[in-house]
Amino acid sequence: MENTDYIKEVLITHEEIVSYCKRLAIEIEDTFSEEEEIILLCVLKGSLPFTAELLPNFKRPNVICEFIRASSYEGKTSESKGVIDISCNTLEIIEGKTIIILEDILDTGKTLEAIKGYLMAKGAKEVKVATLLDKPERRIVDIYADYVGFTIPNHFVIGFGLDYDEKYRNLKDIVIPYPEKL
Ligand code: 5GP
Ligand code: MG
Repeated sequence: MENTDYIKEVLITHEEIVSYCKRLAIEIEDTFSEEEEIILLCVLKGSLPFTAELLPNFKRPNVICEFIRASSYEGKTSESKGVIDISCNTLEIIEGKTIIILEDILDTGKTLEAIKGYLMAKGAKEVKVATLLDKPERRIVDIYADYVGFTIPNHFVIGFGLDYDEKYRNLKDIVIPYPEKL
């Protein structure tokens, strides 16, 4: 039997995420003209499920999906180390373009600030942000997302891409765990 003892509370169900991703694709398509490319930039690894859920909802063909790697939390910790390491192999696509960063969660804002700065320095025309979750109480940097899925209170959450020590990314729902049971 599946062990779910570590789940304190299911915060956002998979159904709610699926339905938000449908609405988000429509909202993004409404803000870009038909001719304009929609360039999505998935922030690995946490935003992979979000990206995969969102992508097939676009109706037009000119939607491009690229990946960037950013790490701030490391190992068995739920506190940000404040050091952000960024790597991206597809820089040629960025120049002169509007990019939409897809983030799993906007917490202190440090990661997003670093990625935005990186993309602007590499010649992006404009950088927009779509975050699945927003934890505004924890914000240190003055930064916001253009599209927010769910605003949540200050809890450490796991599931649907969000990990604890690289595990639990596979959970379909987003849950608040009992830390001692992880
Ligand atoms: P920030 O730089 O905004 O503080 O943190 C952003 C990154 O920290 C997220 O992309 C995510 O990887 C991680 N993070 C922030 N809050 C949480 C959380 O509640 N749960 C998990 N699993 N990761 C988080
Ligand atoms: Mg992340």
